[in-house]
Amino acid sequence: MKIGFVSLGCPKNLVDSEVMMGQLVSRGHTLTTRPDEADVLVVNTCSFIDPAKQESVDTILEMAQYKKAGRAKKLVVAGCLVERYRADIRRDIPEVDAVIGTNELERVVEICEGLGDGEGAPAPYLYHHLTPRVLATPDHFAYIKIAEGCDHPCSFCVIPQFRGSFRSRRFESVVAEAAGLFERGVREINLIGQDTTCYGEDLGIRHGLAALLARLAQIETPHRKWIRFLYAYPNRIDQRLLDTIAAHPDLVKYIDVPLQHASAGVLKRMKRGASGEIFLRLLERIRRTIPGVAVRTSLIAGFPGETERDFEELCQFVEAARFDHLGVFSYSDEETSGSYHLDRKVPARTIYNRKRRLLAIQRKVSRARNRQWVGREVEVLVEGPSKETDLLWEARMPTQAPEIDGVILVNDCEGRPPASGEIRRLRISEAHDYDLVGTLLPASEARPPVRPGSLVQILPAAASV
Ligand code: SF4
Repeated sequence: MKIGFVSLGCPKNLVDSEVMMGQLVSRGHTLTTRPDEADVLVVNTCSFIDPAKQESVDTILEMAQYKKAGRAKKLVVAGCLVERYRADIRRDIPEVDAVIGTNELERVVEICEGLGDGEGAPAPYLYHHLTPRVLATPDHFAYIKIAEGCDHPCSFCVIPQFRGSFRSRRFESVVAEAAGLFERGVREINLIGQDTTCYGEDLGIRHGLAALLARLAQIETPHRKWIRFLYAYPNRIDQRLLDTIAAHPDLVKYIDVPLQHASAGVLKRMKRGASGEIFLRLLERIRRTIPGVAVRTSLIAGFPGETERDFEELCQFVEAARFDHLGVFSYSDEETSGSYHLDRKVPARTIYNRKRRLLAIQRKVSRARNRQWVGREVEVLVEGPSKETDLLWEARMPTQAPEIDGVILVNDCEGRPPASGEIRRLRISEAHDYDLVGTLLPASEARPPVRPGSLVQILPAAASV
């Protein structure tokens, strides 16, 4: 059968899609990028906030059109929307033939082949290094999910309700997967989970993430490699972790730590604790321990009870913290979240204006930070031709994570032409609000080997959240 796959949402969901595609391909099915050619269409959904839910429903209905007009005989919906609204999907979207929950990834083949429907898996699922997986990212970078679920009580968040309690993958399984990916020519590995900094706690491993990072950095590879982790929890960032990152050149100098807010009162209502002062001290310790480190965070605008004063405090915090990268989410009133029952909801217009104001402050910070790079030479990972124009190529510094941060637009090249996946030096010539511009310098390493066949395109999604 020909299977068309749409993957929505975050990299954690993308890995689930890659595991499902791996199952299908390992059982002889083929993947197509053309929904009109597919026999079966699979939409792997996201549902953590309203916009994500809306995008999921829109995409399902869009794919349902292909069932009416195209060759597709079956429409399968997978992922987080299924976990939250399994019965609603079945009742309200009759075009959907079957559903697959987040713990039923290994049932995708039988479900696509028409042997059953997702009833909800008894046991929490977590893939391992022998699980067939098709990479949906470009050949030179990949995500590794090191844990699933979450035990934190953040009052606005519903993820633990459908991703379950926190569970780590086996240490040696992650190491084997990373070694296999590097062996296949991957240059950059991004470790992900709902909270990567809790890694190993449930396995009795002290300083689990630091130990894992140090072990991954020791993997022998013929070429330079980059190792990054995303989704840290603020009070889990300890000195051992920072020292480990500082000690290993292959561990990129990058910390992604969603802080959500800076007002102690709002953080308390979020059931996260801490305060802007505590976070500024944490940032100071991170920057002191890891020179040149980039810090990314995400914040929520308009949480119930957020007063003008709380918001001003948040604005001053963003100005003082000077993050390298920052994302802002509008508060989403999820009916099964703890915060749903809180009073003093913030009007939608106010939430909109507050989000815009935070992003405007960060745009200035980002522009000023970017200007400091002009004239400097940096190490970059060459991504490939720019998505905007084929007159330019794109590259990233270690301080720029894939798919979420700014990039470097390559408008000139010294020495041989660029190649996707090579790590090379670059001189920065221009700075914009989020992106930089520069000239690739002559290559210092041999052109990286390209292993065909590992790259499989999935159907384009409207816009991943
Ligand atoms: S740490 Fe992240 S995934 Fe876990 S409850 Fe909080 S916001 Fe949700």
